[in-house]
Amino acid sequence: MPLSPLTFLPFPLGSITPLGWLKNQLRLQANGLSGHLDEFWPDVKDSRWIGGNAEAWERFPYWLDGVIPLAHLINDSNLITRVNSYVEYILDHQAEDGWLGPRKMVIYAGGTEFLKYDLWAQFLILKALVQYYDVTQDQRVPEVVEKSLRGIDNYIDRIPLFDWGQFRWFEVLIPIYWLYDLKSLPRPAGDVLVADADEVQWLLDLAVKLHAQGFHWGDFFSRWPLTQPTPKGRWNFAGHVVNNAMAVKAQGLWCRLTGDESDRHAVYDIVTKLDRFHGMVTGVFTGDECLAGKRPAQGTELCAVVEYAYSLEVLLSIMGDPRFADRLEKIIFNALPATFSPDMWAHQYDQQVNQVECSIRERDWNSNYNESNLFGLEPNFGCCTANLSQGWPKFATHLWMGLEEGGLVAIAYAPSRVQMLIKGVPVTVTLETDYPFREDLHLSIDVAQPVEFPLLLRIPSWAKGASIRLFYAGTTYLPEPGSFFRIERLWEGKKEINLHFPMQPSLLDGFRGAVAIQRGPLVYALKIGERWQQVNTENPYRQLPHADWEVYPTTPWNYALAVNGGSLDEDIEFENRDLGDCPFSPDGAPVIAKVKGRKLPGWRMENGSAADVPISPASSDEPLEAVEFIPYGCTNLRVTEFPVLRK
Ligand SMILES: [Zn+2]
Repeated sequence: MPLSPLTFLPFPLGSITPLGWLKNQLRLQANGLSGHLDEFWPDVKDSRWIGGNAEAWERFPYWLDGVIPLAHLINDSNLITRVNSYVEYILDHQAEDGWLGPRKMVIYAGGTEFLKYDLWAQFLILKALVQYYDVTQDQRVPEVVEKSLRGIDNYIDRIPLFDWGQFRWFEVLIPIYWLYDLKSLPRPAGDVLVADADEVQWLLDLAVKLHAQGFHWGDFFSRWPLTQPTPKGRWNFAGHVVNNAMAVKAQGLWCRLTGDESDRHAVYDIVTKLDRFHGMVTGVFTGDECLAGKRPAQGTELCAVVEYAYSLEVLLSIMGDPRFADRLEKIIFNALPATFSPDMWAHQYDQQVNQVECSIRERDWNSNYNESNLFGLEPNFGCCTANLSQGWPKFATHLWMGLEEGGLVAIAYAPSRVQMLIKGVPVTVTLETDYPFREDLHLSIDVAQPVEFPLLLRIPSWAKGASIRLFYAGTTYLPEPGSFFRIERLWEGKKEINLHFPMQPSLLDGFRGAVAIQRGPLVYALKIGERWQQVNTENPYRQLPHADWEVYPTTPWNYALAVNGGSLDEDIEFENRDLGDCPFSPDGAPVIAKVKGRKLPGWRMENGSAADVPISPASSDEPLEAVEFIPYGCTNLRVTEFPVLRK
């Protein structure tokens, strides 16, 4: 049985060019940790993957998986040259049995020929190499990937999947399917095009074997026992936050092979249950580092943020559900930027939705160390330091997708340009916008010759009253929120379209009756004054600019909000500010909101975090004040979930 086709086809790296604030943000990232780890951080600079003597596991491939697209999106020739030299080294050093990079031995399983190696980092490097092929068309890559997969096929006959490789087995379906699709392309033979199904069947057979040995996420969630916060000290693979964020796409990838409706259903089952028992108002779920329940003072690991986003990008391509894109934007515009310092030189391991102090203190994490919410180089553990690199770049490369029959789909929105051939005709579509900070998006569609194709525009499910104005036809449509609006026509010359997505405020349900404010794709949080204090100064790798920081509040945060039953339009006043060079920062916030509230003197800190939100409605004799909110992604300290003030 062949693979079922994708609903939407991702474009190869290089087709989409970031513009405006997105280009600026990627440049910021390259100027920060991501673009410099290979110059100073031993786990990348001296990695055993490139002949050094430092880390031999996931960090180098994690970093490559993000910086390959980053370097090409901003066309940074220096970074491209460095990245190419590392990939060259890895391609040149493949072992005879197909193994890529160093072998990290786990335990002996018999004589020397039965050494036991976890396959996770092999899966990861293959995902990075596939992206490398997209931009370079380096013909060694398919050969290296095939040799690696044949080696894995051989290896798991004797050493079945275990540990990370077992719980993340589905990640290798991405390079398996890639090679399958590439080798299935009809090739010229004499006067005709032929494809040989027998040549690629072994890839699907390998997928079936991996599935049989891998952890069955869909089955596990059907009778899922992890509905409570993980008890302290009970770290485990099945409750691991990053494994779960990756596993959101597991059944989606698998259903390309089975075509089974129950696998598609399982995707929604996993997302719904994670939301219900561990979900945060920012679209992610907690895990510090195993699933941690609904308290807004629990942590979410940065690796889980970027992996959840990537899972949604993969699912959008397979299943085409616009709700996945609503979630993707929510995570990328809120949870992702919030967990970095504005200059992207420091990141957190764990972010909190209510985060009133970042400091080295014992908190109620399930198993992470006390420094996990510091902004720094490698707080708690260095996985996120490497893996953070994929967040923005992969979002940028999945903004647009194609249709098999020729056509274009707007998946998620940020300023960008996409260039492709449709029916052999060069087509350029440019999106100018300051979305998600503004409500208007301006599209221009430019074709070299007249060509007919459909253009699908995603209408966010929150965008009540959305409108699409076709300037060339003088018509305006009122599309259904939560759908793709299809425009099919013979495109000629240059045509202009305006999208208007009205952003109305609404309240999200938090923990124990608390509320959070959302408007459009952005969640809003209280702006708290900050004092940054450098720590770990004795560590040579934690010096400026890649230093570690504690952040202490300098203004009150313990409010109850007067959002009690009237119109939110009257209760909350939004005001646009200039969109500067650093929009995801407290001072650069492009939108602010004024909300009235009273202090609750009894709501205090516990172990460095905000105590549980008081039960609503809350009473207070303190004076009514107008307090300032900014988008969650612009904050470093914040309160997001609040009690409601008694009327
Ligand atoms: Zn991590």
